[in-house]
Amino acid sequence: MTEVMIQLRGLTKKYEDITAVDNLTLDILRGEIFGLLGPNGAGKSTTILMLLGLTEPTSGSVHVNGVDATRYPIRVKQIVGYLPDDVGFYEDRTGVENLVLTAQLNGVAQDEALDRAQTLLKRVGLEQAGDKKVGTYSRGMRQRLGLADVLIKNPDIIILDEPTLGIDPEGVREFLRLIRTLSRDEGLTVLLSSHHLHQVQQICDRVGLFVSGRLLATGNIDELAKALFEKDPIIIRIQLRSADDRLQHVLENMEDVHKIKKLDESRFELHCTRDITSEIARKIVREGYDLQELTKKHYGLDEIYHRYFEGGDRHEKPLSKVK
Ligand code: ADP
Ligand code: MG
Repeated sequence: MTEVMIQLRGLTKKYEDITAVDNLTLDILRGEIFGLLGPNGAGKSTTILMLLGLTEPTSGSVHVNGVDATRYPIRVKQIVGYLPDDVGFYEDRTGVENLVLTAQLNGVAQDEALDRAQTLLKRVGLEQAGDKKVGTYSRGMRQRLGLADVLIKNPDIIILDEPTLGIDPEGVREFLRLIRTLSRDEGLTVLLSSHHLHQVQQICDRVGLFVSGRLLATGNIDELAKALFEKDPIIIRIQLRSADDRLQHVLENMEDVHKIKKLDESRFELHCTRDITSEIARKIVREGYDLQELTKKHYGLDEIYHRYFEGGDRHEKPLSKVK
């Protein structure tokens, strides 16, 4: 049975002259790892703050496990563990001490707090460092301590804002694997935000691509690519074994061929309104040309990255302004 743990409906947040989050509707299910993905300034952190009841939406609603987060932020805080992008610890206290403090603040008795702290330190791979002062921790260690800190009150949901920021690649892999294991072992629902497409797709069951406050598509990477590039032409490349000019004319007269680019004497690129790869192959062979290669352009992670994360996106409206 699927159970909605986080329900966002028409969620909108406007600051003076910008709409940081624009009419966001989304369901996140129990046990799922959902990646809120988007370039800097997309509105990820603002969304998370509204989810936690830490900032009030301009309009729309947020429910976390059925609780209205805007009206009952304290109740939401009891079931959600939140790791902000810059987590604060007492630098001159040890990892264990910091965790015990958090546990006590959440109403866990002293003995049990220590027990839990030690179990969790082990869980996140910090058992050796538990007695060292947090001030000496690396960024990766701090994030793992942050994860233990978030888990100490046994939340049903954890929300991590840019958790891999500033960690080295090996540390990132370990950290993400840890989140995945925790979620699978304990049925935790995880919402994490990131502007690292490549990282997020490694562990998320689903991602939502968020640009300029708007959710453009959700799904796994293949589904995202499909939704985002649905209006793009199908691009088919043809490579002949030897130069031949006449082919262009033959192809021009084919139905569904919208544009032909000659790349060089023996290579052509076709923009088609439909996938006609096999028709093209048959035609070329039947007309007696020596076909060396026929490829269809695949839209995936790299295309998503280039279009939405680097230098903005020409196909979508720019940052929405308040009217
Ligand atoms: P992300 O976390 O995806 O990088 P944010 O949610 O932090 O994006 O920001 C989204 C937009 O809202 C940005 O344009 C940012 O400058 C703006 N913004 C965020 N917080 C505030 C604030 N407190 N006051 C005014 N503008 C803000
Ligand atoms: Mg942010």
